[in-house]
Amino acid sequence: MQKVVVFWFRRDLRLEDNTALFHALSAGYPVLPLFIFDRNILDELEDRSDLRVNFIHQTILSLAATLHEHGGQLLVKYGKPQEVWQELLREYPIAAVYTNRDYEPYARQRDAAVAALLAESGITLHTFKDHVIFEEQEILSKSGTPYTVFTPYSRTWKAALFPGQTTPGSGKDSPHLQAFPSEKLLTGNLFAAISTPIPSLAAMNFEPAEMSFPPTTVSQELIRHYDETRNFPAQRGTSRLGIHFRFGTISIREKARKALALNETYLNELIWRDFYAQILANFPHVATQSFRPEYDRIAWRNDEAEFQRWCAGTTGYPIVDAGMRELNTTGFMHNRVRMITASFLTKHLLIDWRWGEAYFAKKLLDFDLASNNGGWQWAAGCGTDAAPYFRVFNPTAQQEKFDPELKYVRRWVPEYGTTRYPRPMVDHKTARERCLAVYQKGIKGDEG
Ligand SMILES: Cc1cc2nc3c(=O)[nH]c(=O)nc-3n(C[C@H](O)[C@H](O)[C@H](O)COP(=O)(O)OP(=O)(O)OC[C@H]3O[C@@H](n4cnc5c(N)ncnc54)[C@H](O)[C@@H]3O)c2cc1C
Repeated sequence: MQKVVVFWFRRDLRLEDNTALFHALSAGYPVLPLFIFDRNILDELEDRSDLRVNFIHQTILSLAATLHEHGGQLLVKYGKPQEVWQELLREYPIAAVYTNRDYEPYARQRDAAVAALLAESGITLHTFKDHVIFEEQEILSKSGTPYTVFTPYSRTWKAALFPGQTTPGSGKDSPHLQAFPSEKLLTGNLFAAISTPIPSLAAMNFEPAEMSFPPTTVSQELIRHYDETRNFPAQRGTSRLGIHFRFGTISIREKARKALALNETYLNELIWRDFYAQILANFPHVATQSFRPEYDRIAWRNDEAEFQRWCAGTTGYPIVDAGMRELNTTGFMHNRVRMITASFLTKHLLIDWRWGEAYFAKKLLDFDLASNNGGWQWAAGCGTDAAPYFRVFNPTAQQEKFDPELKYVRRWVPEYGTTRYPRPMVDHKTARERCLAVYQKGIKGDEG
């Protein structure tokens, strides 16, 4: 059989402007595109109609259809990656494997194991940057260390886009935002002789869910006004592209070029994404511990019943409840409300940020370990660039400022204002004082 190169899709589920796919298609062999439904990940999911699995499955079917139009096919396997790769080595004469880098701790271990396995057969795993604009060692302080504060990081990030230029150019001039037009190389370069069918959701023990996902495009108008609208959860003022950035169904380079041209505040949000990705890569302990170790001494109350009320959106604080119900119903929560709900759980209820982080990880369509962990540690005050612990959001004041007409609240909490709506489960002033005392005792080791 003719030798092939394998292109392995992971969190880059698109055919356009895909770095590793572009290089695979330029390598001079027919390309066999591969996706693995990874049992190490899927077996851990509790919800059999998990919306993310549905999204991936739909996307895979659509990628397969497009590849077919270009004379190729998508090989889709279901299993544990190392075992799947052992099978693939028996089934295909593989010249090389191409893939885009994934920076999460599990992904790094998986890729190291697969690279070692391939190396035993003399095959190289070629990996590329695609998921971020700058990787963890590309934006460093003058002393060569990773940044742990966003503002100086973002300044260096912006300067690095235009190396050697004193005045920033446009997105088109930046070597870091260049497209890799993989879509133009598909025809004539794909391997077609595959007969394996794509596993159905049922075959993987999942159920289809009725859900429509946000589009991959956003109007220029929305991005242009993003800085004015982004904080108001009742408005459609943010891009809702999170799920697409997460699974790579859009190109970060393309969106960053647009952001650079249209709205700096929006560009800054994309930089936050790179910032948290480099924090997780450079400080992997954050995946399980506080970035600042003294915060792991806080005596969390961790009251199970209170946690359940927070999850269900019945705390008696309407903006918190609206957020949790939006999350439970749609898999999305507005960023402002993520900050409010996370602050309420950690500071008002004194529940360990890891409980909230795990709940969001189960529910968010755009769940991303680096950004979710960064957001939670920020809210709890224990992370990089964190809000100081003594700044405790007042959920009522936040609602008055960001949902003054209660439009968002009424959309998600229709019984608000009736006798069916619960009274606040904690008094703000009392909870704030308790939070300050408990945090202080933990952080400062103050026993008095
Ligand atoms: C407690 C908490 C948990 C969070 N969990 C996640 C998560 O699991 N996945 C996730 O992608 N974002 C997370 N965020 C960040 C942010 O809330 C979401 O990215 C945003 O709400 C997604 O909606 P959007 O696509 O409309 O964003 P937009 O406001 O339109 O922003 C565009 C994109 O920029 C990126 N972005 C925006 N804000 C941030 C941020 N603060 N940190 C990192 N990237 C950002 C995202 O990729 C986002 O899609 C979290 C924030 C908090 C406070």
